[in-house]
Amino acid sequence: MDDERLQFHEMGLDDRLLKAVADLGWSRPTLIQEKAIPLALEGKDLLARARTGSGKTAAYAIPVIQRILTSKQSVREQDVRALILVPTKELGQQVQTMIRQLTMFCSRDVRVANISSKADLSAQRPILMEKPDVVVGTPSRVLAHLSTQNLVLHSSLEMLVVDEADLIFSFGFEADLKNVSCHLPKIYQSFLMSATLTEDVQALKELLLHNPVILKLQGSQLPNSSQLHQYGIKCEEEDKFLLIYTLLKLRLIQGKTLVFVGEVERCYRLKLFLEQFGIPACVLNSELPIHSRCHIITQFNQGFYDYIIATDEQCLADPATTAQTTAAAAAAGKQKKKKKVSEKGGRGKDKEYGVSRGVDFQNVSNVINFDFPPTVNSYIHRVGRTARADNPGSALSFISHTELEKLSEVEEALAGDKADSVLKPYKFKMEEIEGFRYRCRDAMRSVTKQAVKEARLKEIKQELLNSEKLKTYFEDNPRDLQLLRHDKDLHPAVIKPHLKNIPEYLVPASLRGAMHPLSAKRRRWREKPKAEGVVKGSFKNIQGKNPLRSFRYIGGRNRKGEADKS
Ligand code: AMP
Repeated sequence: MDDERLQFHEMGLDDRLLKAVADLGWSRPTLIQEKAIPLALEGKDLLARARTGSGKTAAYAIPVIQRILTSKQSVREQDVRALILVPTKELGQQVQTMIRQLTMFCSRDVRVANISSKADLSAQRPILMEKPDVVVGTPSRVLAHLSTQNLVLHSSLEMLVVDEADLIFSFGFEADLKNVSCHLPKIYQSFLMSATLTEDVQALKELLLHNPVILKLQGSQLPNSSQLHQYGIKCEEEDKFLLIYTLLKLRLIQGKTLVFVGEVERCYRLKLFLEQFGIPACVLNSELPIHSRCHIITQFNQGFYDYIIATDEQCLADPATTAQTTAAAAAAGKQKKKKKVSEKGGRGKDKEYGVSRGVDFQNVSNVINFDFPPTVNSYIHRVGRTARADNPGSALSFISHTELEKLSEVEEALAGDKADSVLKPYKFKMEEIEGFRYRCRDAMRSVTKQAVKEARLKEIKQELLNSEKLKTYFEDNPRDLQLLRHDKDLHPAVIKPHLKNIPEYLVPASLRGAMHPLSAKRRRWREKPKAEGVVKGSFKNIQGKNPLRSFRYIGGRNRKGEADKS
């Protein structure tokens, strides 16, 4: 069947684009690309629903670039021809990176500028004065530049893209978006990409699209069970800590792993807990400065870290909260609006933060829901960070009795008509790791409220320093940026050195064979990062199978294995 699929070289694309696609190693278009690119090249407006990781960025970026290259053959004047609106700065940076990759052989002809960062408007003015062919930004940023006439679109714009349109509403950008549309010409081609086709998105369709083709490609918003393995295990608060310690310390879970928790405070609690055992992890949340966040994701993609502990934020989980806040703020005037939203979001939180949405973590082997996600959408977006493009992935959710209701909602939404549950039971015999409970409690005792508070402050201070003071330096010396790690120990909790080691007698006999020797010493920064796209040992335990699926206890049979010698 695959042979019948349209190939990139059959789409009438410019050779420079085809070369870039080949350089990226993309052998064939993804489903959304196969359908959307030819329609877009015919000049049609598109409303596309596609699950995260489906290749939707390139689905609009390729026709945008193609159209600019074609226009430039006849019109020489430099002007902004395409505007791409995104809900978050992280996504803005990612879109810019993708366009840069796709234009690597025509970067003089197609220039892209990302104005979603919070730099001074005046600092971004010179970039816009050069009239880049493509401008990427959040609606509020774009509107600010349109209002000051740093950006003028009413005569030049040919294409408009709204990416993650449903999230644009969740973040309260609706009014900004409508105002932006007043600055656009009468005729332009538009693409609306959205994970869900909500009523809000339908309304946006009326506003921005003209006779669009609607692409609803996947019935399911997550890959099927042969690509994405979803598991659940019932465990209460203390057992969650015990289980994650065992899974990570004994390397029962392999490959890059995203661990999602419910709140920022939990990020640090878990980080400090794992730190006790010499397990380094980065935290990622809305309190960290944008540069740090992007740097963490970049380094994670390059293979510097195995574990990220992340939150998805309230505004993401509960659009109603954001809507209320935004409505109140709108009444209080534009300037106050921003302040109010950030106050509601908590100290220094960034309303445009969105880890579980849009942001492209590459080669994530596992997602662990340490805390069960608050909504079905949040489950889909968290779990959608793994099994992207054609890669396999696993998701494991820890479920306490208070989270059972949310589990049922997810099951109901994902199972559809099928009788089987979507989350298969993760058959882990907790009693076999009872020997670790004492150490686990010992470590938890050190992670006091005060220690968590201190860690949170220390991390923000550290990251602000990294982000601001060093920003200019790193712009000039990008190689040195590699020296900056975000998974360093924070240390506010009392460290008990013995906890870093696991005496062999504590490892259950049945687990010894499955365990990988894990040095308590972290990998040093000097270690060569793994090549992008290659994840060491991903999904392979010693038997060469998916560890989440194949992990079994083999009674008294003790396979020959090596315990932690660190
Ligand atoms: P997106 O859905 O745009 O966030 O893309 C998800 C991931 O798929 C990104 O890492 C892209 O680099 C990758 N990707 C996009 N198109 C293709 C393709 N045709 N073949 C392989 N990977 C792709």
